Amino acid sequence: MSPGDFPNDGGEFQSPALEDLVRSLGRLPGLGRKSATRIALHLVDATGGAHDLAAAIETAIQQVRHCSNCGAITEADPCRICTSTRRDSALLCIVSSPVDILPFEKGGFFRGRYFVLGRLLSPLDGVRARDLPFDRLIQRMEEDPVREVIIALDASVEGETTALYIQQLCEDRDLELSRLATGIPVGGSLAYTDEVTLQRAYQFRRAF
Ligand SMILES: [Zn+2]
Repeated sequence: MSPGDFPNDGGEFQSPALEDLVRSLGRLPGLGRKSATRIALHLVDATGGAHDLAAAIETAIQQVRHCSNCGAITEADPCRICTSTRRDSALLCIVSSPVDILPFEKGGFFRGRYFVLGRLLSPLDGVRARDLPFDRLIQRMEEDPVREVIIALDASVEGETTALYIQQLCEDRDLELSRLATGIPVGGSLAYTDEVTLQRAYQFRRAF
C-alpha cells in the first residue's frame, strides 16, 4: 500500500469540521486557503474569543439589513437617514454601494438623502440596466420630489456608464443633476498624478 492509497479521513485534517470551517473562511473576499487555514486553527485553539466572534456573526446576520427605501445598511427599516426630519429629501445622492455612504456621513457636510444602486452597469460583464434598481429610483424621485441629484459613483468605466444612464433617466425631469468632481487629492503631488486624473482636473477647473 503506497501513501496515496490511504483513505481520506476528512480532508487535509483529521477533522471534517475543521475542513468545513477552512472552506467557509476561504470563501471570504481576499482569503486564500492558506490564510483560511491559519485563521481556522487560531479560532479552534483560542478559548473564548471564537465564541464571541460566532455570537457577533450570528447577531449581525439577524439584525443587519438594507433599508428598503435607500439601500443603506441599517438595523431599523427605514434607516435613520431616511426618517430624520433634519435632512433634505429633495437632495438625493446616488452611490453604488452602502459603504460609499460612510465617508459622506463621516464628513458631515451632506444633509440630503441617499440611494444605493448596489452595483454599477457593466455591459461587458452582463450587468445591464434591468439588473439595477432604476425602477425604484424613478419611484423614489416621484414619491418624494427631488430638486438635485448628485451622482457619486466610482471614477471607472462602469461608474461613467452608470452616470450616463442616470443622466438619461433624469433628462425630462425638472431637477438639477450634478456629479462629484474628480481631480488631484488633497495633499497629493501634481508630479505623481496620473494623466487621466490630471486631464479631468483640467477639464473641470473652476474660476479662482
Ligand atoms: Zn434609508
